[in-house]
Formats: sequence, structure tokens, C-alpha cells
Amino acid sequence: MDRTLSGLTAVVTGGNNGIGKAMAMGLAKAGANVAIWARNTERSAAVVAELEAEGVRATAVACDVADEPSVAAAMDRTVDELGPLGCFIANAGIAEAAPLTEMSLETWRRVLRTNLDGGFLCTREAARRFVAQGSGGSIIVVSSTISRYGAAGQAAYSTSKTGLLGLGRTLAVELARHRVRCNILIPGWTRTSMNLDLQADERFVKATTARTPARRWADPEEFHEVTTFLANPALTYHTGNEVVVDGGYTVF
Ligand code: NDP
Repeated sequence: MDRTLSGLTAVVTGGNNGIGKAMAMGLAKAGANVAIWARNTERSAAVVAELEAEGVRATAVACDVADEPSVAAAMDRTVDELGPLGCFIANAGIAEAAPLTEMSLETWRRVLRTNLDGGFLCTREAARRFVAQGSGGSIIVVSSTISRYGAAGQAAYSTSKTGLLGLGRTLAVELARHRVRCNILIPGWTRTSMNLDLQADERFVKATTARTPARRWADPEEFHEVTTFLANPALTYHTGNEVVVDGGYTVF
């Protein structure tokens, strides 16, 4: 991979695991300095060592994306340590499944708090920072293919991920005049710890694999290139797009 992002400061929320970690690694391999925001500081420290091994600066920032003061403090610390913001990836998310008739209000609120409130607070913070810097920049909002179809048990998760489409589109429209681009990444089935229960369900894996034209789930590392593409400041006119990375699952 070339070093097209040398000197760029990038933030990946939920960057200490799964897809977020893979995106952080992709950015580091392309030369970006990376801050990962997450709650589990032990796991983050191990990822920072891997990022630094790519020859870039990296930092782990303890942050709850759904907590307003925590998000503001995380941005201040990131910019103090790594310099002006160049790319912000709102990736952190949780999934909890239950049939709607059995879903508690607590579950609903927990999922929406992290995924939707968190997405709002983080992208608002990034947008304010980009506008204040006057430097332009790139925001990537991580939704899901579940925003494109109905799935049993996923009322809260699906609502949150569909809501993020509205957030991302609005950001693209509002921020274009500040040369800030916002694109929405839509991953399909990817092997991470978020869905270990589903990975263990042979029938489920067989059914989803059979429905996927690529005939397999994704590995997180397959998000390296798309991330560096969307983060690249040279991509000046590419905003408001939904970039689907799902092996063709939702093409039908
Ligand atoms: P993981 O469970 O592997 O990682 C989730 C990450 O989010 C962790 O780094 C976790 O860190 C962080 N996180 C969770 N809650 C918070 C919080 N309140 N504040 C800060 N960080 C938080 O999930 P994936 O990598 O699979 O998912 C990443 C994104 O991709 C999610 O938005 C998910 O919805 C989306 N996605 C995943 C798909 C898949 O098949 N895996 C498919 C489509 C979309 P910590 O616990 O340390 O805070």
C-alpha cells in the first residue's frame, strides 16, 4: 500500500476491535496518524502498538461515544496529540437482538444510545472541528446492510443503522460548502466479535453465505482499501455516497 495519507490525522471510533481496528490499520498503512476512541483501554493499548509498528503516530483515547463531555474531551486530546483533524470515522456500534414483542425499552435505548446518539455526538464534534479549522476533511459514517432490508429481531439495531443514513446524508449536504465530505459505509456480514453467536450458528452462516454472490462473509481487513479511498483528501467531489461492501448481498 502506498503512503497517500502521510501526515493526515484520522479518528476511528470503536477502533480497538473488528472493522474499526481494520480501518485504523488501513489508515496507518497508508501513512495516517490515528487516534482510536473506545472504552476498553487495555484492548486499545494493544492496537496502538500495532498501529505504531506501521511507522505512524497513534493514540488510544478512552471515550464513550454516547457521552457528550467524553466526546468533546476525546477530540481535544486527539488534536493536542496528533494535530488538526483530517478524517473522522464514526464506527463504534453495538448490536442486541430480540423479537419486537419481547424487546425491552432498556435494550432499545441502549442500542440507540450508542449507535445513533453516539453517531450524532461524534460527527457533530468532528463537523464543528472541521468548520473551525477551515481545512476541509472527510467524515465516514458506518451504517450496515441491515438499513436496506428487514431482519427479525433487529428493531433497535436496524432503526439505528437506518437513522445513520439520514445523519450521513444531512452532513454531506450541510458541510459541502466547508469542503467537508461525508460518505456512508455500508458493510455486510463480516467476521467480528459483534456476531460470534451468529458465526457459531451453522445454518445461519450457510444461509447467508448462499445468498451472498461472493459466497462468503467478509474479513475485517477487506475494509482497508475502501477506508483509505474515502479518507483521501484528493477525493474532492465524492460526498453523500453510500458505499456498500457486502459481497453483493443486497444487490438483488
Ligand atoms: P465489534 O463489536 O468488533 O467492535 C465494536 C467497537 O465499538 C469496539 O471497538 C467497541 O469498543 C466500540 N464501542 C462500542 N460501544 C462504544 C461506546 N459506547 N463508546 C465507544 N466505543 C464503543 O463490532 P464490529 O467491528 O463488527 O462493528 C463495527 C461497526 O460496523 C458497527 O457500527 C457495526 O454496527 C457495523 N457493522 C458490522 C457488521 C458485521 O457484520 N460485523 C455488518 C454491518 C455493520 P469498546 O467496547 O472498547 O468501547
